[in-house]
Amino acid sequence: MKLISIIVPCYNEEENVKDFYDELMKTESFFKNNDVSMEIIYVNDGSKDNTVAEVKKLRETDERVHLINFSRNFGKEAAIYAGLQKSKGDYVVMLDCDLQDPPAMLPEMYGYIVNEGFDSVATRRVTRKGEPPIRSFFARRFYSLINRMSKTEIVDGARDYRLMTRQFVDAILSMEEYNRFSKGLFGWVGFSTKWLEFENIERKKGETKWSFWKLFLYALDGIVAFSTVPLAFASILGVVFCFLAIILIIVTIIRKAAFGDPTSGWPSLVCIISLVSGVQLFCLGIVGQYLSKTYLEVKHRPIYIIKEEL
Ligand code: UDP
Ligand code: MG
Repeated sequence: MKLISIIVPCYNEEENVKDFYDELMKTESFFKNNDVSMEIIYVNDGSKDNTVAEVKKLRETDERVHLINFSRNFGKEAAIYAGLQKSKGDYVVMLDCDLQDPPAMLPEMYGYIVNEGFDSVATRRVTRKGEPPIRSFFARRFYSLINRMSKTEIVDGARDYRLMTRQFVDAILSMEEYNRFSKGLFGWVGFSTKWLEFENIERKKGETKWSFWKLFLYALDGIVAFSTVPLAFASILGVVFCFLAIILIIVTIIRKAAFGDPTSGWPSLVCIISLVSGVQLFCLGIVGQYLSKTYLEVKHRPIYIIKEEL
């Protein structure tokens, strides 16, 4: 008998815990018929509502339900990592608690792994219906930017909803980095992945945990984690400005020698100084981003802390 682990990161999802479970149970008979048993791991990422109580209620009637309770909010990436570490399944899938990742797709996903030999089956939404247009716009820009800058392919619209074999999960777990950008890590490990597409489904209850600002910072994290192009960009800017300076010096000398023409006024000087110092600070900022990430990595802090495990 095989085992499938279902990982559900939850942050303030009290209204969704039960609904998710009910929806998931619609696939129970499929897995039973295929000789696969289930374990359901809810990872409570420091919710401030009754998410924990809701999960405990489910545990009373179903012993396959497990709970990992974080000591505070560590972020979805940490929740996924904890779930993967604790999972024992031959197959592992993670999906959002808000039913934006339909559990009804599981049988189809399972089929691709078992019958067609894929190592993972991932999903991407092909529309962004129901999302604020400005958010979609920046999301698209982000994907085109990061894919130009990074060797690892990061698929536009990819969700974290993914079914994986044990081998694939172990590969993900072997990457113990602190700054976890899953969308990149999944691409980085390789293996064969089948992509399934679906239309965006709006969140049933509660609201999104991602503000525009949080997403923006997440996008920056992704770029720093999967590309060193910004660092090269800083060097290139440096070279370009040196080159410009040399031309300016030559022009000034010739002008003075040939025409005795003194270089005019300080406004031009102020402009040049502000431009160049702006560029310098910008490049310093880029270096700082990488340095701060390196600093966090070398501290080797745990990615999450568990308060309670059931
Ligand atoms: N989530 C989490 N920790 C966080 C933020 C979100 O575990 O700090 C979970 C959340 O409970 C949900 C999933 O991650 O199950 C996706 O979050 P959300 O639906 O808010 O994101 P969106 O679908 O809007 O991108
Ligand atoms: Mg959601």
